[in-house]
Amino acid sequence: MPSEFDLIQRHFTRATRHTALAVGDDAALLQPRTGMQLAVSTDMLVSGTHFFADTDPEDLGWKTLAVNVSDIAAMGAEPRWAFLALSLPAADEAWIEAFARGFFACADAHGVDLAGGDTTRGPLTLSVTIIGETAAGEAVTRDGGRPGDDLWVSGQPGLAALGLAALQGRTRLDADGRRACIAALQRPQPRLALGRALRGVASAMLDVSDGLLGDLRHILERSHTGALIETAALPLTRLLATGADPVLCRHCLLAGGDDYELLFCAATAQRDTVRALATKLELPVHRIGSLTADSGSIHMREADGTLAPLAPSGYDHFA
Ligand code: ADP
Ligand code: MG
Repeated sequence: MPSEFDLIQRHFTRATRHTALAVGDDAALLQPRTGMQLAVSTDMLVSGTHFFADTDPEDLGWKTLAVNVSDIAAMGAEPRWAFLALSLPAADEAWIEAFARGFFACADAHGVDLAGGDTTRGPLTLSVTIIGETAAGEAVTRDGGRPGDDLWVSGQPGLAALGLAALQGRTRLDADGRRACIAALQRPQPRLALGRALRGVASAMLDVSDGLLGDLRHILERSHTGALIETAALPLTRLLATGADPVLCRHCLLAGGDDYELLFCAATAQRDTVRALATKLELPVHRIGSLTADSGSIHMREADGTLAPLAPSGYDHFA
């Protein structure tokens, strides 16, 4: 039976790129660059709640870090250091080895050093604290949205939730659709390049982890605005092409969660800029509505022009 020390040494100790002192001492030593602010965030994944216990460990390693990198992307910051707290039911070395491979694949893809952590025995729980850097005062927060701003979302929200529905046997998808949806669920791609490009362009931003409408409410609360969603502008085509039921597709898009897309606001004068940077990054962005002065409300305008307010928990009823 390997000791905790052996496990850390073997699986979680790697050369670092920009860390003065990483794994192995009582504390890590980090040197932020001059003039930079630190952006710090923690996310925890609990077996049975956030993932199935039998999830492929390599995918899980990727996702454990990716969801944290996504928070840094949503601030328009650069990810730098991660701390990994693991609670493991057993020292299953093959599992840990695969988990570490996925974790470091994501770390390498995004320039993150694993600088420390903690390893204990207990129910399977994975927690990461991530630290990013951003020039002081340049982070994109949730509170800068103004009435009249456009509301944009990146990529394909809803894909991951369709993948979950497929794994749970709640929907059938055609083979290509199923592959894409499950990949979105298990290998989310944090939108770092987009987040970075939106510094100074977006007025408010967050990453969608709990469903588009639910997370939109966080921007509305912090920015003291409302929102009008043009349902005809919602990116449904690709979801429908998976073969899933249209009602389920709309639900997954608006309320599914696990998207890790960026939801952001920008002045209408920024439209061309947003489109140009999305083209350059080869990442589609969709202008799905706008912010309104009706603080806290979300209205949906259907293709036929009918306008309906959404109840505070209205998005739950699309199921
Ligand atoms: P201490 O008891 O002093 O807190 P630990 O024995 O818990 O130290 O950890 C020893 C070293 O290994 C520390 O540098 C810690 O940050 C690191 N570490 C422990 N678990 C992990 C892990 N899962 N991933 C990365 N580093 C870890
Ligand atoms: Mg110590």
